[in-house]
This record gives sequence, C-alpha cells and structure tokens, in this order.
Amino acid sequence: MTALKKKIKIVKNIKINVDKCNGCRACEVICSASHAAPKYSSNNPARARIRVIREPLSDIYVPVFAGEYTAAECAGRDKYIIDGKEYEECAFCRASCPSRDIFREPDSDLPLKCDMCESDPTLEEPLCVSWCLADALIYEEREEEVEEQAAPEEVDADLEALANRHGWDKVADAVQRMKKKA
Ligand code: SF4
Ligand code: SF4
Repeated sequence: MTALKKKIKIVKNIKINVDKCNGCRACEVICSASHAAPKYSSNNPARARIRVIREPLSDIYVPVFAGEYTAAECAGRDKYIIDGKEYEECAFCRASCPSRDIFREPDSDLPLKCDMCESDPTLEEPLCVSWCLADALIYEEREEEVEEQAAPEEVDADLEALANRHGWDKVADAVQRMKKKA
C-alpha cells in the first residue's frame, strides 16, 4: 500500500469583478514589465499574462488570466449575455489556443501562462492586483488539506524510528501482518 501523508496546500486565487474594471490596462502593463528579461527593461502588453477584453461602446471590460496551452481549437463556442451585455465568443476563456493571438509570446509564439507572480521573496499579492486601482482584481488565499505520497527517504526514516523502538523483527512482522489484511 502507498504511504500517503496529509499536507496543507495554499490555493491562490484572483477574483475578478468585471463591473469594476474600467479597461485602463494597468494590469497588462505591470505584468509584461515584470516578466520582461531583464525585469522591468521593457513593457509590451502583448507579452502580458493577463489581457483585458475591451469593447468601450458596449461598456464591456473583461480581464482574463492566461491559463493552459491547448494545441487544438474547440469545435463549439459559447456566447454569454449577462445583464443585457453580450460578450464575444471566447471572452472568458483562459486558454492559449491557435484560434486567437493573445497569450502567445509575440517573438517566439510560445504560450504564456499566469504564474501568480511567484518570486523569491514572495510578494504579498500579485502585481496586477496591486496595480488595479479600481479594485476589480481581488487576491485570495485558502488552505486545502491534500494527501501526497511520502518521499522514499521519509518512509525509510519513519521505519528506522519504529525499528529503534521495537526492533526490526517486530516491525517486519507487523508489516507482513498488515499487508495480509490490506
Ligand atoms: S488594472 Fe484593473 S481596472 Fe485596469 S484593466 Fe486591469 S483589471 Fe481592469
Ligand atoms: S498574477 Fe502576476 S503573472 Fe499573473 S497576470 Fe497578474 S501580474 Fe501577470
């Protein structure tokens, strides 16, 4: 039987309030600048891991974070009408996909994905959140208990501790007994 142990994982999340977004694109600017090489050496929103779908005449502004890469376009599309506003196809989709030119690095065409501004030292909150003066982006963290497989060296150390207490023969007997019951 595989040794599993409980671990607390931090789940990071950015809540988007489209009603508060005014389409200023400050989030795109800071994201692209902070991911430039070297850092802050250039600024090109086409390189941002967040893009704002903007239709000012319809008062539509949708910040979308770059998600997973997909090699194939989807065969069917959805259209959303929310509070009387009709959003374009793919408006809420996070995929870096061949059917549109966002979330792809302009020079290399490589897919882009939001990394939640992971850095060392860790930031208090992602940069796009700090730069959004309209409070359209709200950063949240929650703890989740997950089961993960113990590393082999951890299992060895645990067994050794048991053997020191009870002796290897008793530990081996107990393992055999438990294996039969499993
Ligand atoms: S910085 Fe905030 S208000 Fe401006 S475009 Fe981005 S999400 Fe919208
Ligand atoms: S969380 Fe960081 S990497 Fe992700 S879109 Fe915002 S600024 Fe870019």
